Amino acid sequence: MAADLKRADRLAALGELSARMAHEIRNPLAAISGSVQLVALRPWVDEKDERLFSIIIRETDRLDGLLRDFLLYAKPNQPSKVALNLHKVITDLCALLATDPRMEGVEVDNELPADLVVQFDKDQCSQVFWNLLVNAAEAMTGSGSIGIDGALVSSDGRNEVRIRIRDNGSGMSQDDVKQVFEPFFTTKKGGTGLGLATVYRIVETNGGRMSINSTLGKGTTVTLHLPA
Ligand code: ADP
Ligand code: MG
Repeated sequence: MAADLKRADRLAALGELSARMAHEIRNPLAAISGSVQLVALRPWVDEKDERLFSIIIRETDRLDGLLRDFLLYAKPNQPSKVALNLHKVITDLCALLATDPRMEGVEVDNELPADLVVQFDKDQCSQVFWNLLVNAAEAMTGSGSIGIDGALVSSDGRNEVRIRIRDNGSGMSQDDVKQVFEPFFTTKKGGTGLGLATVYRIVETNGGRMSINSTLGKGTTVTLHLPA
């Protein structure tokens, strides 16, 4: 028990330190990217230079995205739970996502009851469903559909809200399913592998739990149990 506590303390300190580090790297990175963007506008810049500058800008952007995702994972805010209407959360997110190229050809079926309410941090709730919807969309080639249903269920005498996000995308092997919550596990070119690790952490700190079922070639279902 004592050894476990020490280990937990050490891990927390390490998380704190790496989050601080990620934060410190983001400022000079922004300066590098901003400066290169200005230099790239100079009249003597030729095509070859332009190509090199665009590589610097693209890669600094990628690093910045990685650090932002890492910060969300390593240092999640303390949740401030409020009553949230899930149907509305999803409707608002879909409106936001409508112009995202990843959602092209993807249909989202919001089957959530209009009066379904969960106790969850507002920003973190959007973050959770944003990550899950984007993952579902990215698992599709060309077109596909995502269904979201929910219901009030009772487990161990406690009321919970069960939500399922089902997609008919690529699905995963059972080997991959075992690893999806590991930070940095990704099968995507340019993926960070921090999406599901962050979702898992957020769901846990808000008092919920989650699991994933997937069949290769058929699709994936993410199930969340959230406090009612
Ligand atoms: P990333 O999206 O950056 O790869 P995630 O943590 O969001 O990181 O997902 C980790 C991996 O889990 C993905 O690379 C993908 O292989 C798999 N995955 C997640 N969601 C789905 C899904 N809905 N369908 C198929 N594979 C998925
Ligand atoms: Mg993802």
